[in-house]
Amino acid sequence: MDIAFQNSGCIDLHIHSTASDGSFSPLEIIEAARKIGLRAVAITDHDTVDGSAEALSFSHSHSIEILSGIEISADFPRGTMHILGYLIRVDDSDLRRTLETVQDARAKRNLKIVAKLQELGVDIRYDEVIEVSGGGQVGRPHIAQVLVHKGVVQSVDEAFKKLLRKGGAAYVSRYRLLPAEAIQMILRAGGVPVLAHPFTLNAKNETELESILVDLKQAGLKGVEVYNSDHTPEHKNRYERLALRHGLLLTGGTDFHGTAKPGVQLGIGKGNLRIPYRLVEELKKSIVKV
Ligand SMILES: [Zn+2]
Ligand SMILES: [Zn+2]
Repeated sequence: MDIAFQNSGCIDLHIHSTASDGSFSPLEIIEAARKIGLRAVAITDHDTVDGSAEALSFSHSHSIEILSGIEISADFPRGTMHILGYLIRVDDSDLRRTLETVQDARAKRNLKIVAKLQELGVDIRYDEVIEVSGGGQVGRPHIAQVLVHKGVVQSVDEAFKKLLRKGGAAYVSRYRLLPAEAIQMILRAGGVPVLAHPFTLNAKNETELESILVDLKQAGLKGVEVYNSDHTPEHKNRYERLALRHGLLLTGGTDFHGTAKPGVQLGIGKGNLRIPYRLVEELKKSIVKV
């Protein structure tokens, strides 16, 4: 069957571009999404709206609906907490100001990581990292790619495990927004805050996850990413159940990074992630209600 036909009416609301750690530009992503028949997409780069703003500028020339988006890293010591923001005003001045602070912190951290690697005897320079970043935000995945190119490690995964992740030899912590700050920033910019891939929170069990969700909802969270390439059917069922129980919206996306995350394809993730357009309608309705 024709791929565009299979995907018609489907969406992908979790995509990274070269503005963060993805390997394709916003325009390349929009063109690819249109070609495979997606009806709506959102570019959700880490701590920047640059990719999303660029994508939005193509919405008139491409027959595909483009939602604004971002993915914020929030401070959550037990695990990784990412908060997605949809339908935000990408030119909101408060949002831009706060993101600049976060980006500065990220840039300083990258320099510290490279210095630590040098101390460990690794031959790496910061300009090599900038080169692989494609001109957007620089992050640990880019440092990992340089380490792979140089044969220091075999894979990006190994770079994180041995060196870059918490507890690794070259790990450096950085300033992050608190979960409530990230949520409030998105709300103030007119957007819808959604908890991304809940399994990365490392909650011990469903009860613990539920209590985290309740806290986040109190802080203004409006939805949960139920559909994601890295979710097992059990994850999906659990998140669906919890979202419905707490009156939270359901969203989904592939977390596509292009060649930077092999095995995850735009729109379909690891093969059969088809996310229906009605979730976008619910997102839009939730804004009207506010
Ligand atoms: Zn994420
Ligand atoms: Zn992501």
